Amino acid sequence: MAILEDVRPSKAGKYIALEDKYGAHNYHPLPVVLKKGRGVYVWDVDDKCYFDFLSAYSAVNQGHCHPKIIQALTDQAQNLTLTSRAFYNSELGPYEKFICEFFGYDKVLPVNSGVEAVETALKLARKWGYQVKGIAENKAKIIFVEQNFHGRTLGVISGSTDPESRKEFGPFLPNIVVIPYNDTKALAIAVEDPDVCAFIVEPIQGEAGVFVPDEGYLSKAFSLCKDANVLFIADEVQTGIARTGKMLACDHENVRPDMVILGKALSGGVLPVSAVLADNEVMMCIKPGEHGSTFGGNPLACAVATRALQVIKEENLEYNAQYLGNYFRQELNKINTSLIKQIRGKGLLNAIVLDTKDPNKGWDICMKLADRGLLAKPTHSYIIRLAPPLVITKEQIDECITIIKTVFEKDF
Ligand code: PLP
Repeated sequence: MAILEDVRPSKAGKYIALEDKYGAHNYHPLPVVLKKGRGVYVWDVDDKCYFDFLSAYSAVNQGHCHPKIIQALTDQAQNLTLTSRAFYNSELGPYEKFICEFFGYDKVLPVNSGVEAVETALKLARKWGYQVKGIAENKAKIIFVEQNFHGRTLGVISGSTDPESRKEFGPFLPNIVVIPYNDTKALAIAVEDPDVCAFIVEPIQGEAGVFVPDEGYLSKAFSLCKDANVLFIADEVQTGIARTGKMLACDHENVRPDMVILGKALSGGVLPVSAVLADNEVMMCIKPGEHGSTFGGNPLACAVATRALQVIKEENLEYNAQYLGNYFRQELNKINTSLIKQIRGKGLLNAIVLDTKDPNKGWDICMKLADRGLLAKPTHSYIIRLAPPLVITKEQIDECITIIKTVFEKDF
């Protein structure tokens, strides 16, 4: 029996109908309407409880409504929420010091969404290209890789290779070079162009389906960039903040990028908070009035982000992600089914790659998982990403493995 089509009358339909009628149709959600979250659990409007194995695309690494983060939010909300950057505020300086020391960079540029931070990094890279590298005005080029996902703005989709993201949104930014992912030979050739100012890369490609590059790719790519005087920009919006078992995914290869882009879990999923970290050589290229955002660095965001990062350390979530991630993949590999082609991932950013030609199979499996109390979403129809909040326990992971095993071995 499909529990989502249970005999009980469901309240979900009316909420789905409202979104359908009044909201733009730019998403295709699973038909589950959530009203509450705590830790690894979310509840729907009919009070059914699920394990959240998407974590809002890795924004909720600290778990839903983490009490310490919510406390920081509500405390700060009583005092001051927004000043704009027309004035100083008492939260921003301490937060900037905290996050710079936390990640080991000279400076931070605070913004809001992930894509806004990516745009910020690209603009900074161009400024650096003109002012420091000496590229002639309007000639700077940026290298992207195939199958990247950096968000949805026009600038960012200019470097995308996904037809769905680009079709009928042109014309695009010029001076973008796209090379294959996980290909240092292609990078070595691309960085030879003296007009290249930066290379932007996800340490693991999340939206593309959790593509983990070969070991050594990031460190080799970094050294190629260094040798060619090209900035290495790591988009850690999805992979950062302990998701892959280290604070940054680049830490697995001891790579210290010239710029790090963070978002999502920087606020524990509480507010849109993002940031670009870099040293003075890059960050001081930008002057007052040249870039900014009304909400960037607002006091509420600063208080929340500080607490969200402290929680990662206090609860040892890097270790939890690494230890439970290894265990999770090992157990998933034991599932007895011909439907699974590959299990891949790092830490608690994982994916099941299906062995199927049926474009609906990923969706159907996610519906069955939901029936049995686990929420996941297919990416590219045949890949199921599995990324629970990092506060998950061994007992809870075991329960989830049983659910996934049952769906693959009994339902299909
Ligand atoms: N960069 C990466 C690697 C992402 O995974 C995402 C979102 O999934 C973004 C950037 C964009 O973030 P946002 O949706 O907050 O703009």
